[in-house]
Amino acid sequence: MISRVDASATSAAFLVQTDVVNWILLQEGSDITLIDGGYPGQESDVVESIRHIGGRPEDIRGALLTHAHVDHLGGLVGLSQRYGFDVYMDPVEVSHARRDHLQQAGPTDILPLAYQPRVLRWLAKVTPLGVLSRKGIADAKPFPEPLDLPGRPIPVSAHGHTDGHSAYLVAAGEVLVSGDALVSGHPISKIAGPQCISDAFQHDTETARRTVESFMMLESSVLFPGHGPRCDGSVAQAASRALDVS
Ligand SMILES: [Zn+2]
Repeated sequence: MISRVDASATSAAFLVQTDVVNWILLQEGSDITLIDGGYPGQESDVVESIRHIGGRPEDIRGALLTHAHVDHLGGLVGLSQRYGFDVYMDPVEVSHARRDHLQQAGPTDILPLAYQPRVLRWLAKVTPLGVLSRKGIADAKPFPEPLDLPGRPIPVSAHGHTDGHSAYLVAAGEVLVSGDALVSGHPISKIAGPQCISDAFQHDTETARRTVESFMMLESSVLFPGHGPRCDGSVAQAASRALDVS
């Protein structure tokens, strides 16, 4: 499912929502910025989503990463090589994306939850998409100065879910792309609506909560999360609600 927010007559932000993870397309004229790229097995879905909005994968001028978990980085590994674009991120996240180390839930984090039918259903879906892939992006890059990409995305430091997680303000600040710092659902979550992602997936839960508190200062009116549907309405209120229910 793809939904859009227009930033101007020639620029728009698109949320591509799948049943396992989301990514974002920023289109300015014919140029495209990709934010995250799904699982390794979703490369062709990313390409299809670009064609759906009238673009071509050759029009990708660069990609941004919220964080280096396999469900956000996986598709970018092959796409960045095939179409020759750079992948930028918070400087702290670069070594994670290169797979110098891995801050990701492993079997020991997931196994205690695996008796739940929704967790088993999730595992059955994401295993064929490459959830166990350890491939990184060897030439992952920190944000350049200035960050001059189509759609004018502005990074918002959002550490905690991983050490170098970043959110992005897009569509002239109207939309917060929150990655996994603030989600609106997840296949293993019992609740719908704004929430913090399960502790099993958080690298540093305390820092992650402080990040959500910092979102309460934002004036954005649309949330494009890393998992779950878009949320229209005050992002500050969504952040507050997430802290209440999580
Ligand atoms: Zn994550």
